[in-house]
Amino acid sequence: MAQIKLSNLRHSYSPNPSSDADYALKKIDLTWDDGGAYALLGPSGCGKSTLLNIISGLLVPSEGKILFNDQDVTALPPAQRNIAQVFQFPVIYDTMTVYDNLAFPLRNRGRDEDIVKRRVTAIAEMLEVTDMLTTRAANLSPDNKQKISMGRGLVREDVNVVMFDEPLTVIDPHLKWKLRSKLKELHQRVKATMIYVTHDQTEALTFADQVVVMQDGEVVQIGTPVELFERPAHTFVGHFIGSPGMNVLPCEVQGGGAFFAGEQLALEGPAKGVADGSAEVGIRPEFVSVSQNGNGVAAHVRKVADVGRHKVVEAIANGSRIHAIMGGEAPNAGDAVKLEFKQSQTRLYKDGWLASTQAEGV
Ligand code: ADP
Ligand code: MG
Repeated sequence: MAQIKLSNLRHSYSPNPSSDADYALKKIDLTWDDGGAYALLGPSGCGKSTLLNIISGLLVPSEGKILFNDQDVTALPPAQRNIAQVFQFPVIYDTMTVYDNLAFPLRNRGRDEDIVKRRVTAIAEMLEVTDMLTTRAANLSPDNKQKISMGRGLVREDVNVVMFDEPLTVIDPHLKWKLRSKLKELHQRVKATMIYVTHDQTEALTFADQVVVMQDGEVVQIGTPVELFERPAHTFVGHFIGSPGMNVLPCEVQGGGAFFAGEQLALEGPAKGVADGSAEVGIRPEFVSVSQNGNGVAAHVRKVADVGRHKVVEAIANGSRIHAIMGGEAPNAGDAVKLEFKQSQTRLYKDGWLASTQAEGV
């Protein structure tokens, strides 16, 4: 196992990149700690697979270095990096049995048959495929094939990192949930560094201790699921995480205060160094309260969705849409209401980036 460091990494698929737009990875500096459970989260096309393939050695970056425990591995081929990678679609040998498929990565490295047997048996039990060990892989369902593919990634005990690239894409929804919790449990048991790539926030937040959020070839935030929820460093993270995502409202900054629809909004703390002019206020729907005759921003209710556990109110204030999550009684569509924002959760964003600071003592 190892700490993995990416230093000044840039990658372009074009032979003569001229501008930032030609780079699939713009500039990545990132350290993955030994034994961590990481998710790499971002929309399709943001560069997640490119980043994984650079770590595994399938791709050589245009610029920058990859270090495993401070050793430069940038020029090493995949076989010498001692990593396991599980892809979106199953990579298994159809003509072999499930047992032989799981044994392959160990036998390939000349491990003794008694070790092979012990590891294959243990992994098969964890993945609940023991009854399939003698079945030929060709006869498995797509779900089970992918389980075996994941098993092949997990069977070795000596890898630096196990990387999963959207491994549950082909898995049935009900089994998805099960495999996801299984992986989390496996991580706790084997303590290997794991990087789990997904575009699905639920998958990322349930698996990982640390989530790395990417957008357009860049890392926008690294944090625990709670940190990403509570203080998004960028409006993109606010939108991408949460259901519905964070409300982002246009505002005017004047003398350090933020004004929306002519009213000053109380921010979490001072916005240091933000010049007068346009900016944005971010507030999660969980921290917007709706009342008929209270204080706050005047709005009208456009619709109310009952999602079971709570209701999601969609209101319009000064032309902007604002979501609020409510536990109990909700207003009706068409009602005139007041929206109040919880001060400690009201943040200022400038050019997308968090610009307010938390008040002292919070
Ligand atoms: P993700 O895995 O997050 O969906 P990728 O790393 O696959 O994203 O892709 C990042 C960007 O690089 C995308 O714009 C994609 O079109 C481009 N890209 C990926 N693979 C190649 C390739 N082999 N040749 C050229 N462009 C590629
Ligand atoms: Mg991908």
